[in-house]
Amino acid sequence: MAKSARTETGGQLASSARGGSGGRRPALSPSRASDFKQCPLLYRFRAVDRLPETPTKAQARGTVVHSVLERLFQLPAARRDRATAAELLTPAWRELRAEQPELAELFADEHELTEWLDSTGDLLESYFELEDPRRLDPEACELRVETELDSGVLLRGFVDRIDVAPTGEVRLVDYKTGSAPRQVGENKALFQMKFYALVLWRTRGELPRQLLLMYLKDRQSLAYTPDEAELRGFERTLQAIWQAILRAGRSGDFRPTPSRLCDFCDFKPLCPAHGGTPPPYPGWPEAEQRTTPAEHGA
Ligand code: SF4
Repeated sequence: MAKSARTETGGQLASSARGGSGGRRPALSPSRASDFKQCPLLYRFRAVDRLPETPTKAQARGTVVHSVLERLFQLPAARRDRATAAELLTPAWRELRAEQPELAELFADEHELTEWLDSTGDLLESYFELEDPRRLDPEACELRVETELDSGVLLRGFVDRIDVAPTGEVRLVDYKTGSAPRQVGENKALFQMKFYALVLWRTRGELPRQLLLMYLKDRQSLAYTPDEAELRGFERTLQAIWQAILRAGRSGDFRPTPSRLCDFCDFKPLCPAHGGTPPPYPGWPEAEQRTTPAEHGA
């Protein structure tokens, strides 16, 4: 059961465990909020049209690494070592491939797959350079979180790990399988962590003490301490984004916003900014019209 699989594009792949079955009404997730900020049309293609995207090795790697780390923390602390993590790697890949057989097409032959598994194993090795999981006792891994703000905005997503210190202080942990980001990527990562900090603050009534981003590839961690005023401001930001999404959703006016990121956009052939024609707008997925409205990004 590859519980760690996600629908976040650029992060991890969709699976039945994390996919669209949980949503009953449109909600905002960090990845879809980022999509809308980057390009409203990208948001539409992903969250409203739900157009398929080509899976990548990097996404598959992220999914498998998250799955292995989740399984590692299900084991008794003494067994959470490098050898055990390495043993979990191939079963996690096989399970993901069973859920999404098309992933097998990412590899031309067994040799390429072996190389990919080795490089994925390297990320797990890097993880052990950043912390010792035998010394940790997470409260939760791969936790689905959801809360409704006073304004009615529904926030939804998955937290990689929640640690709670004996003193009761909460730490949110997020594993990144790409490189440590430059400024834009860092802002995006912090946006995601603030999102989860806000959800936890609203659901548990306490501010997380720390947000920890672990960049496995570069063996670097980025720690951040949120404060109440900042999260209140962030809440207003999310409300404004959601209102803008609703306006676009009702009118169908999701404008393309070309940038250098278009080169990584699967929907470029459909994009009017690049000479394409989008499919007819399917309409905004009101909750009563669909029981699983794309989970709008979670
Ligand atoms: S190609 Fe660029 S402008 Fe067009 S939908 Fe994708 S990100 Fe937006």
